[in-house]
Amino acid sequence: MRGVVFDGEQVQVVDDLAVREPGPGEVLVAISAAGLCHSDLSVVDGTIPFPVPVVLGHEGAGVVESVGAGVSHVAPGDHVALSTLANCGTCPECDRGRPTMCRQAIGRPGRPFSRGDRPVHQFACNSAFAERTVVKAVQAVRIPKDIPLSSAALIGCGVLTGVGAVLNRARVDRGDTVVVIGTGGIGLNVLQGARLAGAVRIVAVDANPAKEAAARQFGATDFLTSAEGVRDLLPTGADHVFECVGRVELIRQAIDLLDRHGQAVLLGMPRATAEASFVVSSMFLDKAILGCRYGSSRPQRDIPLYAELYRQGRLLLDELVTATYPVEDFEKARADAEAGRVARGVLTF
Ligand SMILES: [Zn+2]
Ligand SMILES: [Zn+2]
Repeated sequence: MRGVVFDGEQVQVVDDLAVREPGPGEVLVAISAAGLCHSDLSVVDGTIPFPVPVVLGHEGAGVVESVGAGVSHVAPGDHVALSTLANCGTCPECDRGRPTMCRQAIGRPGRPFSRGDRPVHQFACNSAFAERTVVKAVQAVRIPKDIPLSSAALIGCGVLTGVGAVLNRARVDRGDTVVVIGTGGIGLNVLQGARLAGAVRIVAVDANPAKEAAARQFGATDFLTSAEGVRDLLPTGADHVFECVGRVELIRQAIDLLDRHGQAVLLGMPRATAEASFVVSSMFLDKAILGCRYGSSRPQRDIPLYAELYRQGRLLLDELVTATYPVEDFEKARADAEAGRVARGVLTF
């Protein structure tokens, strides 16, 4: 079968990839569509160190082909969106509703794929850039069949991360003020999360003025090309500032824009050893800096919720997809993503 494999040197679309049958508690999914997220490119450029060879891709949707022993929540033919969270479901963190904190869900990459007799790693417990992949049952979330799989594909990373950060982590409330720095795939989802939460003023900041129309479509009430103008709109600062770029100077700006009791939520990914600084006394007024893994999501709850909000027209998915490519055109999709020409490119199988 076809798949997108990174061997440590180059990315190739191969057609000699195989995947093993699902074991107990696993699901084999035929992928229909998968979004190209910046994290896939971060594996290729080394920002995210990962063992190779590896099948890329980590936000996808498709059709269940077969299930292993003990799997009863999905059946062959069901449409599913995949999460990257292979949490165990039995540890204290899982049990308290924090599957993103499950220690079983971090690290430990499996190798369900092979080329010839050589095993190939799975990226983010997912590897959606393959015609078929095997995931843990907990990662396969059933969605209604009337949702296009190319749209549902985006829920598993960008939507869970961006909307989840607003609803689950920051818990933005009706009437709150929100600033979103960076309006790429994650930033747009933060914007629509803030709209869903009932934020009254939602200020998008992006150096690229061409992003304004999309930002407003997703919920921004104001758009600025620099954070400098935020104080004119919000003289006492913002209740929530989301940094979605991953640059330390923008993290500092996010903290400096906080109102009393405000919180800065860090969603961008600078290199692993990056350090940021802030004025300690600026934290005294009950301010906070929050990390956030994967939108603090509970995928079996959140994915069906977002699917239903999409059906009601309250959550945008189709508008996130700015281009679709057959998987063979991965290189073009990658070039478009790297040049910032697309909010989200989707590969189809
Ligand atoms: Zn991603
Ligand atoms: Zn667990």
